[in-house]
Amino acid sequence: MRAPFRAHDKIKSVKFDFSLDKNKRRKILIVEDEELNREILSSFLEEDYDLLLAGNGEEALKVLSEEGADVSLILLDVVMPVMDGFAFMRKQKEIPAIADIPVIVLTSEAKLEIESLHGGAIDFIKKPYEAPEAIRARIWRIIELSESALMIRQTSTDDVTGLYTGKYFDYYVKSRLESDADLDMVVIRIADYSITRELYGDAFMEQIQHAIGRELLSFGHGIGTRRDEDLIFWCCDHIEDYGPLVKRLGEMVREACHDDGRHLKFGVYTHIDHNLDLHTIIDHAKDSYAGILHDRTKSIAFFDGFVHDRIVFNEKLVQGFDRSLRNEEFKVFYQPKYDVRGDKPVLAGAEALIRWAHPEFGMISPGVFIPLFEENGLIRHLDRFVYQKVAAMLRRLDRELGVKIPISVNVSRVEIFDHGLREFLNGIIADEGIDKDTLHLEVTESAAGNNADELIRVVNEFHEDGYRIELDDFGSGYSSLTILGDLALDVMKIDMQLIRGMAKSEKNARLVQSIIGIGKTMGLMSTAEGVENADQVQVLKDYGVDLIQGYYFSKPIPGDEFFDKAKKELAA
Ligand code: C2E
Ligand code: CA
Ligand code: CA
Repeated sequence: MRAPFRAHDKIKSVKFDFSLDKNKRRKILIVEDEELNREILSSFLEEDYDLLLAGNGEEALKVLSEEGADVSLILLDVVMPVMDGFAFMRKQKEIPAIADIPVIVLTSEAKLEIESLHGGAIDFIKKPYEAPEAIRARIWRIIELSESALMIRQTSTDDVTGLYTGKYFDYYVKSRLESDADLDMVVIRIADYSITRELYGDAFMEQIQHAIGRELLSFGHGIGTRRDEDLIFWCCDHIEDYGPLVKRLGEMVREACHDDGRHLKFGVYTHIDHNLDLHTIIDHAKDSYAGILHDRTKSIAFFDGFVHDRIVFNEKLVQGFDRSLRNEEFKVFYQPKYDVRGDKPVLAGAEALIRWAHPEFGMISPGVFIPLFEENGLIRHLDRFVYQKVAAMLRRLDRELGVKIPISVNVSRVEIFDHGLREFLNGIIADEGIDKDTLHLEVTESAAGNNADELIRVVNEFHEDGYRIELDDFGSGYSSLTILGDLALDVMKIDMQLIRGMAKSEKNARLVQSIIGIGKTMGLMSTAEGVENADQVQVLKDYGVDLIQGYYFSKPIPGDEFFDKAKKELAA
């Protein structure tokens, strides 16, 4: 059989100084209805302690409500009028400020001794009172013990979560790894951490972490800590079914975030290999959830070998980011948009799409690295790099060709809520001397989960500033018609999946037709995305679409190529 889990087993060997201040005068509260007993005890103790007196439980609570945290010990009679000792202890445990004050019960009945200990007393003193020295020694020992325990708790736990601080966590986990216990390592994180923090603020993040800590502690045996702000580690005896834990914590977060789709990710490494070092064990747990970070349907994943390779790949991408940005290994491509309203399609703009010419992995598409960079916040730098390149392209088209067609950029869901974005965009617009309305911002509704109000506010600000707003991926599943009325939009981009669906059924085709119709009623231009063949172009033209973007006209092409195309097709 495994030894029961006791985190405090080895507390003495952690190096901290817990020596107490012996000279400080401490306060003791004596709760006793019999005058004589009060006097005897007082005479034993008054030389060394400041004494407070109460005649029953109710009076004691009153005294504590004034002196509360200052009281070092309570000497408590059990049999008293009004409120007896047991009722007092029950009340005391409910009041956090005084719950930890140790209680010694004063009793003459042997059977009440045991009951008192169950009721929360830490020790008892028999009546009639024994030798004063014995009582004084007993009282000092209890005070010493409880003050040490409190100090240890304060240094070893973190205020936010109530879990251990890093040093203690490492220590306890390592000592558990020396045993043959069957252990799991769990890493918990809030999905979309940077977006959530941007939306709700730091204090809110701490509240969530606090709640997670509290739940974990009440859930059962384990050692936990918070690390790197957004992560919580939890090492526990092996759990067969994580369902209840995931459910409980998940519900809590949904409640806190008003059900706006935010959730937790759990990475679990079960049956820890005790030969591994702690760092690797934690990495294994982290690695396991990496695969589900962007999958809203999954909240828990378990470690297996394959996971590892993908992690190493992702890590290389993140590590190479700065270098690649400096060396311009990121390339901005342009996918032309054609105006199809007239007889002949006319080049009428483009969307800027990022590519990564990675020195080790070759050309990587944004679908691989954008979600990764959204998760860790690097996307901000990348998006700004794109904005700068696009502004330079707009200037070049204007100065060298006299061409003023708009180019749209994708504004990541992380970037859109960044307070510095407006200033940044205004800055590059001024530097390049271009018109604001040629830089179109593509935003998606998925940006804010259910936090539509914030998205509306931000988007409308940009619109008022003079930027043109394109709603990306309309019809992709996130879209709701209600938001269309409130967002200050200029263009609606109809999602590629909807365009594909047109060939599959009459109903899908009608859907696209209605969407274009709705756009028109609202005074919006519509752009169909991912258009690949002449049939689609014809149908969309019949439905009255304004612009078409897709492989049928052109794939995304490098900047110079796009410039040449514009020169050939548009320059006078
Ligand atoms: P998106 O904004 O919906 O971009 C359209 C995607 O559809 C692009 O994929 C484009 O290459 C692809 N596409 C265009 N026409 C066709 C077609 O006819 N057929 C097919 N099968 N595909 C077509 P890409 O470049 O891989 O970009 C994927 C997503 O990555 C983009 O989706 C966008 O959400 C994101 N992204 C790309 N560049 C950036 C960027 O600079 N910043 C940010 N934040 N996101 C970006
Ligand atoms: Ca886009
Ligand atoms: Ca799109």
